[in-house]
Amino acid sequence: MRDLPGSRISFGKGTIHDHRLRPFLCARPARHLSAGRTRCSPAPKLLVLNRPLSTSLGLDLTEAEARDWFSGASLPPGADPIAQAYAGHQFGGFSPQLGDGRAHLLGEVVAPDGRRFDIQLKGSGKTPFSRGGDGKAAVGPMLREYLVSEFMAAMGVPTTRSLAVVATGEEIWRETKLPGAVLARVAASHLRVGTFQFFAARGETDKVKALADHAIARHYPELADGDYLAFLDAVIARQAKLIADWMGLGFIHGVMNTDNMAISGETIDYGPCAFMEGYAPGTVFSSIDSQGRYAYANQPLILGWNLARLAETLVPLLDPSQEKAVEIANDRLGSIAGRYRADWVSVMRGKLGLIGEDGDDAALADDLLAAMEGADWTLTFRRLSDEAALRPLFPDFTRMEAWLPRWRARAGEGVAGRLAMASPAVIPRNHKVEEALSAATGGDLAPFNALLAAIQNPYTEAEPYMLPAPTGFGTYVTYCGT
Ligand code: AMP
Ligand code: MG
Repeated sequence: MRDLPGSRISFGKGTIHDHRLRPFLCARPARHLSAGRTRCSPAPKLLVLNRPLSTSLGLDLTEAEARDWFSGASLPPGADPIAQAYAGHQFGGFSPQLGDGRAHLLGEVVAPDGRRFDIQLKGSGKTPFSRGGDGKAAVGPMLREYLVSEFMAAMGVPTTRSLAVVATGEEIWRETKLPGAVLARVAASHLRVGTFQFFAARGETDKVKALADHAIARHYPELADGDYLAFLDAVIARQAKLIADWMGLGFIHGVMNTDNMAISGETIDYGPCAFMEGYAPGTVFSSIDSQGRYAYANQPLILGWNLARLAETLVPLLDPSQEKAVEIANDRLGSIAGRYRADWVSVMRGKLGLIGEDGDDAALADDLLAAMEGADWTLTFRRLSDEAALRPLFPDFTRMEAWLPRWRARAGEGVAGRLAMASPAVIPRNHKVEEALSAATGGDLAPFNALLAAIQNPYTEAEPYMLPAPTGFGTYVTYCGT
């Protein structure tokens, strides 16, 4: 990777770097993030610390360091917090200025393996981008992000990670009074499609170019300098694969706004996200998604829509002739559907325990979906080779009678073992997540810790965490920005 300017400053036992995008950020001192206990975190208490992650970053944080640094009670040595500016399309409407309204980027860490990460606090108080908000977050949503992102990591899905959650000791006002918390998040970077849109919307092509150069150096160092078309292609490739992975897990992000799509290809900004239980393509959990824009089956379409917004920002860099540049960009955007489809078929091959490739695999996967409406998404794939266990998952098994023999013929010997290695037994099921978060909000972390342990070993069958929500659980609704 090219060596860009940036002063090395120490951070615990690792190394933190000044954010090298500084010129592009609206860098303002974060007033409350000064030494000593603060109004925002009068009694910080460490709720969860990700020791393996801390070690892999070379930080080896003590509990006291995690508590004080991540609650904003004190600053890690040399850290110079900033809030990042970005724009974004939210539910299709463009906001030229969003930005970190409740997050502070502490700086960068270079892990012992040489990889570079952002460490960001979420829920750490007001910034210049807070608008009417208080900049804070509640224990429940921060622990939800911790759980779901760590599950994604356990499944090998590209994601930001969660390093710690600290309760601030402060009560914050939502619909009711809730305990406040800060999440320490680790990301390959926090560059978003919306970061490109921020400068493009201001007509600052030189900054879009510098941002693209930085993104190439940081996330796509294998690309030639200045090859912005290859950059677009590379982001398309990572995002198409990412959404295919989400679909395989039944994951619904909930708010696929362009400011919530990372240039690195990591899943970012876990808000009102959840996992589908019974297969229903129109599933929506988010309370604010009344139109179903970000419904399960719409996610691949939104992938294309969001990447088109990224391509628009790159048009001035693609060719001196705007007409030609648009043509080039459109050509690449036209490849998204095919690439996503290929990635999805590949994910489904894994989930169906298929070895090698066969021309009929796509149809086999499509036909399973047509037969499994209402059947538990997760368990269906674990139970395919055990018809007695499979049947009760289906409200209507009729179409499976014809499908199963086709699948058996294609899958061949030893498929049971492959199924068990391809699909999780345990996912963060909505009723279990709710149970854990509401207990944690009341001060009892035991259910959260038990659920966390289960989702960190997702292939291990653990009965209480595998069962779908009891019928009394009702329709699940998630809330964001809380
Ligand atoms: P999110 O739903 O986390 O992607 O947030 C969307 C936008 O709203 C981002 O610009 C956030 O920084 C901002 N935001 C969310 N919650 C708050 C809050 N409590 N205070 C200030 N800004 C917020
Ligand atoms: Mg966001």
